[in-house]
Amino acid sequence: MKEKGLLIVLSGPSGVGKGTVRKAIFSQEDTRFEYSISMTTRNPREGEVDGVDYFFKTREEFENLIEQGKLLEYAEFVGNYYGTPVDYVRETLDSGKDVFLEIEVKGARQVREKFPEGLFIFLAPPSLSELQNRLVTRGTESDELIRGRMETARKEIEMMDLYDYIVENDHVDHACEKINSIVQAEHCRRERV
Ligand code: 5GP
Repeated sequence: MKEKGLLIVLSGPSGVGKGTVRKAIFSQEDTRFEYSISMTTRNPREGEVDGVDYFFKTREEFENLIEQGKLLEYAEFVGNYYGTPVDYVRETLDSGKDVFLEIEVKGARQVREKFPEGLFIFLAPPSLSELQNRLVTRGTESDELIRGRMETARKEIEMMDLYDYIVENDHVDHACEKINSIVQAEHCRRERV
């Protein structure tokens, strides 16, 4: 039987640059991943094409897809639905190809439950690791502002527990290189280069 492909999930906090990193990965000629185009109820932005950037749906269409169990995961983000088509993901993995999802964190959690064997990569802002260091080495800040930032960092660090790898997005090229290396290493680890 053919080996299944790897499900690669890139996620992370809003505004960290997931979309930019994903586009950079797919602009490489030798990329071996299949991108799963998401469904969304948000309006297309200028230059976005239906079936290329997203499958643009009405709320009613999207809710029908939910009811019919056609989505591997879905989440509401800033007033719009976003979701991953389950049939595409399963069929592509079954054909032996790696599938790449770029989704927000609530969706990634759902995918982890259904595909615990997936490869989960958290894209972190550079300041997060700095904060993380500070939390570890100091931890006694009383300043209100620092407390607020620690709280945010704590939530983000908790979210990171779900992931296999954390990639700091210090520069888009570095992040892409790291992600490609992680996938390669993961294939070696699973003995299917
Ligand atoms: P945008 O509207 O900027 O294209 O995307 C907004 C957010 O939705 C981004 O964080 C993006 O990663 C996330 N997103 C895109 N597609 C999906 C999806 O299928 N499922 C989930 N849960 N999030 C998605």
